[in-house]
Amino acid sequence: MVRSHSFELNTAGHDDTIDITPDVKRAVARGGVNDGVVCVFVPGSTAAITTIEAEAGAIADLAECMRRLAPSSIKYKHNERWGDGNGHSHVRAAIMGPGLSIPLSGGEMLLGTWQQIVLIDFDNRPRKRTVHVQIVGE
Ligand code: ZN
Repeated sequence: MVRSHSFELNTAGHDDTIDITPDVKRAVARGGVNDGVVCVFVPGSTAAITTIEAEAGAIADLAECMRRLAPSSIKYKHNERWGDGNGHSHVRAAIMGPGLSIPLSGGEMLLGTWQQIVLIDFDNRPRKRTVHVQIVGE
């Protein structure tokens, strides 16, 4: 069976990183699926979803890494074409990816103890985001 849920959250943009593990767990608990896969996805080309140990140090390190990979201070063709100034946001989001799949076993996602699901908003302004959680299994 397939169960679909979604939830919304407000971000501050500028690499704002939000632990969405509790929200995803709530969706899984409501889904009534015990074994299968949980797909978590954020629509939009300037946000990403990954896993990390969601503590302030690791979160800051990851944001720093993305700033080194795609600095906001360099020239982007996207900015020249559109003038919205978020060329770096698109590149960072594309590198990281908009979602992930997590195995579900016995009603629990097979996440590590220190592995949380985070949404990172790379856009250059506050955004309202919708996260989709689709659970496929039995
Ligand atoms: Zn743009």
